[in-house]
Amino acid sequence: MDCIFCRIASGRAEAKVLYEDELAVAFEDIRPQAPVHVLVIPKKHIPNNLALTEEDAPLVGHLFLVANRIAKEKGIAERGFRLVTNCNSEAGQTVFHLHLHLLGGRLMHWPPG
Ligand code: 5GP
Ligand code: ZN
Repeated sequence: MDCIFCRIASGRAEAKVLYEDELAVAFEDIRPQAPVHVLVIPKKHIPNNLALTEEDAPLVGHLFLVANRIAKEKGIAERGFRLVTNCNSEAGQTVFHLHLHLLGGRLMHWPPG
């Protein structure tokens, strides 16, 4: 299986990596939609949130903690930021490896487009 985010997670594809540990990687989105646009992914290949199992629950919590850390490092935690995960086609999911979009550094609109 050729998955671009698995390749980034294992260092086989290039990305601007901001954070890495044994479970997760955070890197800059290649097509940023906001001044801060970081993707937080598990190293484990999980196609999207629908594919999560009970055993993945701590991992999902960990992804949120990594996102918080990046938001603080980027100086947007207090101003506000958005965490988004797109699931399947109508949500616009294009990469089928679970990821949190961390978006911020500008006013985020609601409802989202
Ligand atoms: P999705 O549409 O699946 O929620 O989000 C996929 C995101 O991954 C998009 O924002 C897209 O710009 C980003 N992306 C796709 N391929 C690459 C890549 O090779 N490197 C990086 N850094 N981001 C990518
Ligand atoms: Zn993958």
